[in-house]
Amino acid sequence: MKLEALVNPAVLTQPVYEPGKPIEDVARELGLDPTTIIKLASNENPFGPSPLAKAAAVRALGQGELYPDGGCVALRARLARVCGLGVNQVVVGNGSNELIELLGHVFLRPGDEVVMGNPAFAVYKLVALLFGAKPVEVPLVNHKHDLAALAAAVTPRTKLVFVPSPNNPTGTANTEAELLSFARSLPEHVVFVFDEAYAEYLESPPDLRPLITEGRKVVCLRTFSKIYGLASLRVGYGYSSFGLASLLNRVRQPFNVNAIGQAAAIAALDDGEFVAQCRRENHAGLAQLQDGLRSLGLETVPSVANFILVKVGDGIRVFSELQQCGVIVRPMRSYDMPEWLRLTVGTSAQNNRLLNTLAQVLRD
Ligand SMILES: *Cc1c(COP(=O)(O)O)cnc(C)c1O
Repeated sequence: MKLEALVNPAVLTQPVYEPGKPIEDVARELGLDPTTIIKLASNENPFGPSPLAKAAAVRALGQGELYPDGGCVALRARLARVCGLGVNQVVVGNGSNELIELLGHVFLRPGDEVVMGNPAFAVYKLVALLFGAKPVEVPLVNHKHDLAALAAAVTPRTKLVFVPSPNNPTGTANTEAELLSFARSLPEHVVFVFDEAYAEYLESPPDLRPLITEGRKVVCLRTFSKIYGLASLRVGYGYSSFGLASLLNRVRQPFNVNAIGQAAAIAALDDGEFVAQCRRENHAGLAQLQDGLRSLGLETVPSVANFILVKVGDGIRVFSELQQCGVIVRPMRSYDMPEWLRLTVGTSAQNNRLLNTLAQVLRD
């Protein structure tokens, strides 16, 4: 019997996520010195983690033989204080990606529908497909989520609606008022998933907690992978009603979040000054890229996140030529935007190098 005959059919057709290329891979493939390569492909923080988080991670490694706290008690208590919610309204995941998958475990069965924007974060669609649910993709308008169209795409079979704001890959955001009235317009049988992976880059991120107080079916997702600079440690969290959080907790693995990540995340929350500094640097870096790209005559999508879309013509060609010069960015072919690249905001020196290399590649 063929192996395929045994397999869950959703797995056979499951598309594969295309991550940003690791520096080591590019160095090996192109024979470059890894220390000369810059990666502006995955919206990571170019300033790394806070020194407090690094020190806490090193301390935690000293007890690497012990299983982590499976309930993430200390981190959840800290997050509950940050969010002004109860400890039992917070759930921690192995990155917020895991929380998206846990939502699939809790809610999705074959035939269900999952409403999302297009282009939006690729993982929503992957998780829907993995659970045999149908992704219902609603085109963005002017690169921004069209909330009225998303609401109109809801049917009796819809279980989940995903809205990321700021959105990845476009960097556009919806206002708090828009998001609140959208959520209040959704029918009772739909869970609204609000993905705020880039919230910390906003001066005043939208506050959707009133929806939780009103008893609505909403879960907000955040991550330590972006402004906190801890992507490698895989820590994300969600906050919601107690009922929804306990369902997500029920389907996770007992030790889903490692102890080093938990310790680093707690310390990262203690360093508010570092986060504020990164936010200011990003603001300046975004302006630097936006201006530089404009003076190269390139179209961009105005962004409020730590990355920016730019239209370069043949995206794959420009991507590979940048890569040969040691600058890794993200081609947008897998998002059906073959003429575009997504550039992560780096340090001022990295942004300069990116702009100069791009100018050179486009000239040749
Ligand atoms: C980067 C990102 C995440 C974070 O994923 P983690 O698993 O926490 O690293 C979540 N949502 C969006 C929209 C993102 O861009």
